[in-house]
Amino acid sequence: MNANTIELKELEVWLITGSQKLYGEAALRKVAANSQKIAATLDTSGNIPAKVVFKPVVKSPAEATALCQQANTAPNCIGLITWCHTFSPSKMWINGLKQLRKPLVHLHTQFNRDIPWSSIDMDFMNLNQAAHGDREHGFIMSRMRLNRKVVVGFWQDATVQKQIGAWSRAAAAWHDWQGARFARLGDNMREVAVTEGDKVSAQMQFGYSVNGYGIGDLVQHVNAANASEVNALVEQYDAAYAVAPKLRKQGAMRKSLVEAARIEAGLRSFLSEGGFKGFTDTFEDLHGLVQLPGTPVQRLMAEGYGFGAEGDWKTCALVRAMKVMASGLQGGTSFMEDYTYHLSPTDKLVLGAHMLEICPSIAKGRPSLEVHPLGIGGKADPVRLVFDTPPGPGLNASLIDLGNRFRLLVNEVDVVKSRPLPKLPVARTLWRCWPDLATAATAWIYAGGAHHTGFSQAVTTEMLEDFATMAGIELVVIDADTRLREFNQALRWNEVYHHLRSGMMA
Ligand code: MN
Repeated sequence: MNANTIELKELEVWLITGSQKLYGEAALRKVAANSQKIAATLDTSGNIPAKVVFKPVVKSPAEATALCQQANTAPNCIGLITWCHTFSPSKMWINGLKQLRKPLVHLHTQFNRDIPWSSIDMDFMNLNQAAHGDREHGFIMSRMRLNRKVVVGFWQDATVQKQIGAWSRAAAAWHDWQGARFARLGDNMREVAVTEGDKVSAQMQFGYSVNGYGIGDLVQHVNAANASEVNALVEQYDAAYAVAPKLRKQGAMRKSLVEAARIEAGLRSFLSEGGFKGFTDTFEDLHGLVQLPGTPVQRLMAEGYGFGAEGDWKTCALVRAMKVMASGLQGGTSFMEDYTYHLSPTDKLVLGAHMLEICPSIAKGRPSLEVHPLGIGGKADPVRLVFDTPPGPGLNASLIDLGNRFRLLVNEVDVVKSRPLPKLPVARTLWRCWPDLATAATAWIYAGGAHHTGFSQAVTTEMLEDFATMAGIELVVIDADTRLREFNQALRWNEVYHHLRSGMMA
């Protein structure tokens, strides 16, 4: 399987029901049957992308521990849903939860939606006591300072299933990061600070590795690309995009398009040979490449590869994670940069773009394939896809290294209708920030957010919040409710909290 493939339905979430032996075999059989029904319903819910698998009801410390150990080593298990239909005395969970290394969502639900007013008796009570059973379950996780998500409500409700779905998407992305490999071609753009970071800390915290390669390692693959593969790509370009006249057959710059296809073939070969899920490059290290990869990067991103320009490996990994979260959803996900502002008194907007590398998954309509000079880098004119982005809600996310920890920063935005930009030769998107540009940019800058982001019209703040919880990192959100004074205060509190947190784990 291609390391890049994203198939969420192959992944499993285990539904584990906590109980005890107090009420006898008949009650436990009924609980197991109820739990199977819940698992089957969640499994077929269109709001939950992963498989939901019923696991035997937990009644003892040995069973809880064994299940957590199985979850740790099951290669397709991305996390657990736990639910305690009645008291499942929590000390029986301690050893298991202590060892659990997969994400957990605590589903606080009840098999019966309504109280059967005229018939309720103690048999009903034995089956429907999550109201107190789940509080005991919550206590032990708070006592153990375990990161988890709590979802409350009737299991058939769409709102409940959507919350579990968002968590599943985050868990899939987290699972995808474990053991993932990202390639850094060349170093970063010289003297830039925000694209730097501690790769050892990142690997310990996030599970993925980032290693550097010389651009020559890629050039070897580009030079080795065979003609038929390059021609096949050229044919794909011709069929998929509105190709500019000078790039068409007989066009004066057809060679540039062929060169882009050769770079794409080489990149594909390099990435698949190394089993990479994403990569970075930099315009300051292109020795042996004829042009900075534009279209090739855009097309690889559209297939699910992570990408960060100018050596930005943190954004590359984040874009990959967001691609996994977004799998199967409407709306695209791309590497992005805050490009320039529209500071009109009545309508303050951000134009987002990059010099080439924006993912066509966010394109409105058919991208046009163009070639233009690039002001920097000193290479031949690179081929790129140019397009606008459809209006609608979206967000930008930035993962930064603060030295002692990582911070994930999110700003919710509304993409607005594009305007004609006949002279701007790059793919772009135009958005309005929540709560407003001044507040959002001020907060972003105080929080140290990068100019590079993962942009998405499919990923939600909830998914990123769940993801940050799984990763055990700080999350800061700028949304419609953001007020600067409170925001700054939260940054100060977080500084202390995250510094002390490691000491609070005992
Ligand atoms: Mn950049």
